[in-house]
Amino acid sequence: MKVHEYQAKEILRRFGVPVPPGQPAFSVEDAVSAAEQIGGPIWVVKSQIHAGGRGKGRFVELSSDAQIAAAAEGHPEEGFGGVQLCRSLDEVREAATKILGHTLVTKQTGPEGKLVNRLYIEGGADIAQELYCSVMLDRSNHRVMIMASAQGGTDIEDVAEADPTAIKTVHIDPAIGLGGWQGRTLALELGLSGKAVRHATSFFQKLVRTYVEMDCDMLEINPLVVTGGGELIALDCKMSFDGNALYRHKDVSELRDLSEEDAAEVEASEYGLSFVNLDGTIGCLVNGAGLAMSTMDIIKYKGGEPANFLDVGGGAKKEQVVAAFKLITKDPRVNAILVNIFGGIMKCDVIAEGVLAAVEEVGLEVPLVVRLSGTNAELGRKIIDASDLNVITATDLNEAGEKAVQAAKGA
Ligand code: ADP
Ligand code: MG
Repeated sequence: MKVHEYQAKEILRRFGVPVPPGQPAFSVEDAVSAAEQIGGPIWVVKSQIHAGGRGKGRFVELSSDAQIAAAAEGHPEEGFGGVQLCRSLDEVREAATKILGHTLVTKQTGPEGKLVNRLYIEGGADIAQELYCSVMLDRSNHRVMIMASAQGGTDIEDVAEADPTAIKTVHIDPAIGLGGWQGRTLALELGLSGKAVRHATSFFQKLVRTYVEMDCDMLEINPLVVTGGGELIALDCKMSFDGNALYRHKDVSELRDLSEEDAAEVEASEYGLSFVNLDGTIGCLVNGAGLAMSTMDIIKYKGGEPANFLDVGGGAKKEQVVAAFKLITKDPRVNAILVNIFGGIMKCDVIAEGVLAAVEEVGLEVPLVVRLSGTNAELGRKIIDASDLNVITATDLNEAGEKAVQAAKGA
């Protein structure tokens, strides 16, 4: 689960990680009074959306088509971006007016962009140098790891491509945390000197503590700035949390912003379905994550594109199957549906009844391919045959993939 920058920075403050003074704002008046309280002479008005690349983003309503296309690529031309430096309260007011209620396109939002309805007003920092720093789990080494680079402000993916040696990594012993010597070595590798080395060490240690104690799955500070006085400050923060650990952090769960999430995925989670929206045309209803993955693979292999990943789980009830089917049919891009069930704990007749009930409620306007195998498969097939549903049946995965792709192509 992701949170907004202003929420992430509130959490960083709790752990003593230095961040500039700042306040969230939900209206233009809020923004101006927040700026007054923070005190000048420089403020930064920052769009709060879950996607990054806001500085180089462009607002749909204020830009030409060419500017929007360039912003979606991450290479904007001249124009008004999602992070604005302001030198007076009037400029704060103007920036807030232009941002609130408008749609920002960045490299991470896709060309449709994201509506901004929250701002963060922050004191302007004295930036001498911009670094990059993140904490994540290195699964291959079974350890939490810090990744840092002296090239901050730019996407780490671009740094990794241009010069992988510019990225330094440090692994953290779970028993002792980040050692002071590890922090100092990293700071020196980043080219820091003087008291910035001491500040960096303490910064890294607090960041690691935040990551571990808050059950984060990703914590990225880009840029991490060194000020003219050699202090280190987190100027931007992306924080996301391990969903399986959220029960330990009620305060974090409350920060969830549903308007930032895919509406279909939110609905699916209410029914306990694992669902991810994709760009293709073949809707999939499958039980088990592994089978769902292979179903997507076979669709691709046969030349089609899946519209979603959907795992109804092992013990799904009829209501969940109905909800799943409705989610799929709601997607206007779907032009064929593939139901692929291997009955184990899940019984094929339950699926068949769920599908029939859903079709009765929402109708069926696209071809439906069904492959049932395992527990009660025979019964499931009988239920479908006895209905007047026009179903294309398949006996194995290969045939099911083939028929679904042909059906989606209108053959
Ligand atoms: P994003 O990564 O979404 O573009 P950032 O928060 O990193 O958003 O802001 C983009 C750039 O704006 C930063 O790289 C930094 O140069 C500048 N910036 C952001 N916050 C401040 C601040 N408080 N003071 C001065 N400059 C800032
Ligand atoms: Mg940033």
